[in-house]
Amino acid sequence: MEIFAAMARHGYEQVSMCHDKVTGLRAIIAIHDTTLGPALGGCRMWRYASEDAAITDALRLARGMTYKSAVAGLNLGGGKAVIIGDPLKDKSEALLRAFGRFVESLQGRYYTAEDVGTGTDDMEIIRQETRFVKGTLGKGGSGDPSPATARGVLRGIEACAEQVWGTAQLRGRTVAIQGMGNVGLNLARYLHEAGASLIVTDIYPDKADKAAKEFGAAVVSPEEILSQQCDILAPCALGAILNAETIPLLKCLVVAGSANNQLATEGDGQALERRGILYAPDYVVNAGGVINVAYEFYGFDSERACRHVDRIRDNVKTVFRLAKERGIPTYQAADLMAEQRIEMIGRLHQTYLPKTD
Ligand code: NAD
Repeated sequence: MEIFAAMARHGYEQVSMCHDKVTGLRAIIAIHDTTLGPALGGCRMWRYASEDAAITDALRLARGMTYKSAVAGLNLGGGKAVIIGDPLKDKSEALLRAFGRFVESLQGRYYTAEDVGTGTDDMEIIRQETRFVKGTLGKGGSGDPSPATARGVLRGIEACAEQVWGTAQLRGRTVAIQGMGNVGLNLARYLHEAGASLIVTDIYPDKADKAAKEFGAAVVSPEEILSQQCDILAPCALGAILNAETIPLLKCLVVAGSANNQLATEGDGQALERRGILYAPDYVVNAGGVINVAYEFYGFDSERACRHVDRIRDNVKTVFRLAKERGIPTYQAADLMAEQRIEMIGRLHQTYLPKTD
């Protein structure tokens, strides 16, 4: 892989290849952009098919974090770490601590947190070797980000409802949710409280049944969820779910959910537009978790974090306004909003401030 060419294409600052000879750790830490602040992004542990696949994933995810934090109004840059290995077989205290030492060596240019294949318990282990870890448990920690993510998705859905039906009220609307995991279940609760009817699915039937029992949701099979007649589809399971095969099946007016990278290709964002379906860009609506974690930088205060998460509704509305003004699809408007903020705040940072201590 031509790493420098890949870095130059999207302006990456740094990619660290981390190898520990004692534990055999192989990790990649990608820092995309630190214009707005230190790079924050989770640490993913995964059985990558190749080193190239791991590097590509780290690069893609790091850049995604830059955009997500920028639109969310956070003073954070984008970064991501991946550890190559099977989290069920290869994870050990020593391996995680070796990773923590590499994070420490970056002296705060990158902060790590949980992601697929790692959890809050792992962050406690990593914390033994580095100060630069967020999303921990206990005093000052923000804990599980999923409820905040779900709250943000709800605000995003409200912004969509306002755009399409002229009211943010969700009473009487039907929402189909794909995935009843940590975010999906919390979202189902919020939507039920808001008076919406729910259609849900999960590859584990007991998870969907739980939502049926608690919120009176109708349960359908995973194969059926995308073709349900509904007002809003909320993908809360997988990436690349909006593609050439699935878009023709949709019978909704809005897509807004937590899953990362919902559009398989950019063309799919345009295909949704052509079908008259309003797409709330994933990284704008699913920023609740990173907003919540970011409040650990200021001394965690859940009320303040919640108020910030609620601003996702305004952010989604701004994206829709920009899209209309420029005549561009919403996913492009979200990128533009992020780039404009990075450019503007970056220029502000050029003003010299003398050190006071
Ligand atoms: P999770 O693993 O707890 O839940 C995902 C659920 O989807 C699981 O219950 C799984 O069984 C189900 N699922 C998988 N494939 C499916 C399929 N084909 N059909 C139906 N159900 C399927 O994950 P989560 O933390 O709830 O996150 C959900 C999505 O949101 C992920 O894409 C994640 O990257 C994204 N996200 C999560 C957060 C967060 O705070 N947890 C933040 C930002 C983005």
